[in-house]
Formats: sequence, C-alpha cells, structure tokens
Amino acid sequence: MKQCLYDLSPNDLSNWLREREEKPFRAKQILEWAYGKNAPSFAAMTNLPAALREALDEAFSIGPIEPAATSTGRDATKLLLPMPGGGEVECVRIHMGGTYTACLSSQVGCAVGCAFCATGQMRCERSLDSAEIIQQFVTLRGLGEPISNVVFMGMGEPFHNYSNVVAAVRRLVDRQAFGMSPSRITVSTAGVAPMIRRYAQEGLATELAVSLNAPDDALRRRLMPGVARWPIADILSACAEFSKAHGGQPVTFAYVLIDGVNDDLDHAKALGELLAGQPHHLNVIPLNPVAHTTMKAPERDRTWAFVHHCHRYRLNVSLRRSKGAESDAACGQLRTNTRLETPEGAPSITEEEALHDHQPGRNPRRDSRAPKADGSRGGGGAGQRGRSGQDRSRPRHRGGGAGRRPRRD
Ligand code: SAH
Ligand code: SF4
Repeated sequence: MKQCLYDLSPNDLSNWLREREEKPFRAKQILEWAYGKNAPSFAAMTNLPAALREALDEAFSIGPIEPAATSTGRDATKLLLPMPGGGEVECVRIHMGGTYTACLSSQVGCAVGCAFCATGQMRCERSLDSAEIIQQFVTLRGLGEPISNVVFMGMGEPFHNYSNVVAAVRRLVDRQAFGMSPSRITVSTAGVAPMIRRYAQEGLATELAVSLNAPDDALRRRLMPGVARWPIADILSACAEFSKAHGGQPVTFAYVLIDGVNDDLDHAKALGELLAGQPHHLNVIPLNPVAHTTMKAPERDRTWAFVHHCHRYRLNVSLRRSKGAESDAACGQLRTNTRLETPEGAPSITEEEALHDHQPGRNPRRDSRAPKADGSRGGGGAGQRGRSGQDRSRPRHRGGGAGRRPRRD
C-alpha cells in the first residue's frame, strides 16, 4: 500500500523533493494543493511538471475516500468510510448557524464500552493512523463547503490512540498544512487521566472535553466500565493541570442525561460540589436512542429541572441537543459493525494495549471488506444485518459548534 501524503510533515515532503533534486518551491505548491485546495489527486496539481506529478502518484496516495454509504439529514451528513488500513468508520459533517463542523473518528470501535453508546457495543478493532484521521476531514471537506471546526467525537476513544490523534491535530493546526486555529478543535475523552496530563503538556491550545456522565465513581463504573480505573478526583485534577497549562481555559464536561440513572437532583448537587472551583463548562446532553439498551432520555420537565438545579449549584451549564438524530448521526449513534462480539481469533485492542499506544498491524484478516470464503463481505457495514436479522448498522456522531465552546447540538 502506498504511503498517504498526509502522513508526511511539510519537512518530510521537502526532504523527499530534495532527494529527487526537485526545486524547493515545489513543496509549497504541493502543500497548497493538498491542504489549501483539497486536491483530489496529483493529476489535479496542474502547475507541477507532469514527471513530478507521476512520481508523486507512484509514491503516495492523496485525496478523499469513496464513501461506502452516505446519509443526509437536515443538519448533518454522515459518511461511512472504508479505511485503507482495514475496517470502516463513520464521520459526520454538522451544519449549524451557517458553519460546518467535522466530527472525526479515531478508532474502529471503542474499548471503553459505555453502556449508553452504540460504538461502545462494538469492541475496538483497531486504531486509525493519523493519515486515516486526516482523510476523514479531507473527505468531509470534499462535500463542498468550508469546514471551520473539528471535533474528535466520532467513533473511538482519542486518548486510546494518543500519538495518532495528536499527530492529526498537529497537521490540522500546522500553518503549512490546514492552518486551523486550535481553538476550533475539540478533543473529547472518556477520561483517560494520564493522557489528559500528557496532553496538557503538548502545547496544543485546543478545547478539551471530558465525558463525565456520573458524579460518583460507583455509577461511573457502571456506565463507563473501560475507564473505571481512574477515579473522578484523578480526572478532575488532570483537567485542572490542563486548564493551568492553558491560562485557566475551562474544560468542557459532557453529561449524557439518562432517565432514572443519573438525572436526580441529588446528582446535580453532587456535580456542583465536584466542579466548584474548577474552570469548567457543563454540557448536559439528553441521551440519544441507541439499539440494544432500554435506556432513554428523561422527559422534558425532568431534564429542565436537572439543568436548573445545576444552575442553582453555580455550574456553568448548557443543555445541548444533538444534531443529526434523524440520520442516525447524533452523539452515541455511530456504529458500523454489526457484531456485538469479537469473532473468535480476531483479537480486539485491550485497554492496556491502547494505553501504550498500541498500533495493531495491518492484518488483512481484520479487513471487514475482505471477501469471505463464501464470496460475501466480512465484518459490518451500512445496511448489513446482525444475527437477529435486525438492521444494526446504526451510526452515531457528535456535533460540534461554530464558536470556541464545543457544542453537540
Ligand atoms: N470517546 C470519546 C469521544 C467519542 S464519544 C468520549 O467518550 O468523549 C463523544 C460524546 O458522545 C461523549 O461526550 C459521549 O458521552 C457522547 N455520547 C455517547 N453516547 C451517547 C448517546 N447515546 N447520547 C448522547 N450522547 C452520547
Ligand atoms: Fe467509547 Fe466515547 Fe462511546 Fe464511551 S462514549 S464507548 S468512550 S466512543
């Protein structure tokens, strides 16, 4: 498989050109085509000599990925993308207030296994490399509108794929590449405390969102089993380090509101006590429906009572409603794999491996698009059916916002 051009730093590209004795200014031209103009191919780079275009094409791949499925709703377009390294992920373009946000996936599946999340029902098949993350962005941009914000709120836990996510963020903010303002990028984590601490020291002034979802460790363990080893107190102290390293910048805490589970007024009070004195913003998100759970969002009055109670306890709180629900592209609804279990012989990434930045090899056995012996396609995919015969190819997304404050509505 050819290396993807988005894998190369601007410096790497200059070195490659130097080795070929090309003129140095070619690097700037190529970067402008690749990142500024979203060039779909090297052939489109019309101010390059034909021989250089051919050499580039021989060495690298570039451009958007052909979606295996597209669903379009009023305010979101969701794409199912086959990944070059195997497996499929979903990414979403959210339209809000005249601006567009890209919601990107970091893994095929997720090892955290949150009880309320469609991706959590899949195991983690593999982590994406940084070029595969960038390719989602390029493909969403290829839909034709400029994208001003990026949220890492698609499939997967970004801090279980730390180095690739950080490399992708660096490419997004690099002035010689996409040149985005870091304040328009939000990295959302389930609360991997050591990686929050590491991220605080990266010098990347992006927004940080942490999915809290419970005010006490016992409830959080039930809802988010894969991150139970980090007590809330540890996560909050890691967040305080992030805020301190970024001039007091608040962290956004997401709280998915689930009827009869975490929506008592006592929970709001406990949240108030937890977050007092911590630079924060609290986003309360009524649960989006997900297959295979009986969980549901509270009624409207109960939701508002919770939010008002948060106000009473001096929380800086917003009620968010996810965009994209009608195209199954809303928070918690992204899912590409019809399997509920990892098939025999196909190891999934364990959390331990993920924490050590495990990069699974490109194992063709794991390529969900590889033909099986019976000629059918393996793995999941849009429209495929699970064992029950029910269509389970439910995606999910998460929304972003136009401004600095990450929004999912
Ligand atoms: N793994 C990361 C990023 C992806 S999940 C994380 O958990 O932060 C992004 C957001 O979607 C999280 O805030 C999560 O709490 C939210 N979410 C998951 N399932 C949801 C559902 N069914 N309804 C509403 N929000 C959901
Ligand atoms: Fe993974 Fe985030 Fe879904 Fe939890 S909410 S299962 S961490 S994607």
